[in-house]
Amino acid sequence: AKTAGRAQWVVFDPEMRAAALERIELERQLTGALEAGQLRLVYQPVVDLATERVVGFEALLRWHHPVLGPIGPDRFVPVAEDSGLIVPIGRWVLAEATRTAARWQRAHPRDTPLSMAVNVSARQLAGGTLLGHVTEALSASGIPPSSLVLEVTETALVTDRSAVAARLAELRALGTRLALDDFGTGYSSLSWLRQFDVDVLKIDRSFVSLLDGSPDDAAIVHGLVQLGRTLRLEVVAEGVETAAQRDRLRAERCDLAQGYLFAQPLEEPDAELLLADSDAA
Ligand code: C2E
Ligand code: CA
Ligand code: CA
Ligand code: CA
Repeated sequence: AKTAGRAQWVVFDPEMRAAALERIELERQLTGALEAGQLRLVYQPVVDLATERVVGFEALLRWHHPVLGPIGPDRFVPVAEDSGLIVPIGRWVLAEATRTAARWQRAHPRDTPLSMAVNVSARQLAGGTLLGHVTEALSASGIPPSSLVLEVTETALVTDRSAVAARLAELRALGTRLALDDFGTGYSSLSWLRQFDVDVLKIDRSFVSLLDGSPDDAAIVHGLVQLGRTLRLEVVAEGVETAAQRDRLRAERCDLAQGYLFAQPLEEPDAELLLADSDAA
């Protein structure tokens, strides 16, 4: 196989062949999943670290496959992106998440309306329909645009920076907020921040987990939080799993947090129960 050249070797590698077949099969099944009602959203609360109150949620996709069972987004979102299916799926996610947000905002009024964060992939940003889909979701739900947070990772932005910057500016002109997701994991985070206007920094879980390690490791988190504060961005720590991490983040004056310590991503009724508890607190 070694002498056969790289391209041929790839074709006949049994593991890669299996992986390719799985993708083709997933793509075929995913095509009907949306209409069959197999896609659902779960909601993970976002907590104010100072008060521990729930101030919003992040909507996360789940695929309930009738035979294979639940399939996580790490497996099917890449397939949806490659095939372009992420565009209709993303449209549905926006509509569904804003509809839920509208209901929760009415039932649980706050001085600052509950926020709803939705993940937007590179493929959605690159296509021409995202602005229309966001506009449509805002007007159908009637939520204040500033309560919708669009989460973008920097990998979504490496292709054509000026085109992406123009798209993001249009979205921000609607009044929605933009979050830089998984902050710190890419190689261009800092130059990205200079080039694009964002409102929220989400510090990746890999850094938050460092808070159980040495003081040197914690210095990285300190630096990221300070950077966000200096730029007057809202700072969210992702993947908070321990009370020690929470306490440390609070001491750093990080604004908001998400993670299993507070709650896993929840089905809509469970998320609302948690919200009602947070009202009473
Ligand atoms: P993400 O946007 O970084 O979402 C955070 C992930 O961390 C979620 O995984 C969440 O369940 C998980 N998580 C939250 N708290 C903790 C914690 O304390 N510990 C640990 N270990 N994990 C935690 P999930 O739901 O499997 O989503 C994976 C990724 O799939 C997301 O990463 C996002 O990039 C993508 N995704 C999810 N929903 C959508 C969607 O509607 N559209 C698009 N384009 N992508 C989505
Ligand atoms: Ca996210
Ligand atoms: Ca993230
Ligand atoms: Ca991630």
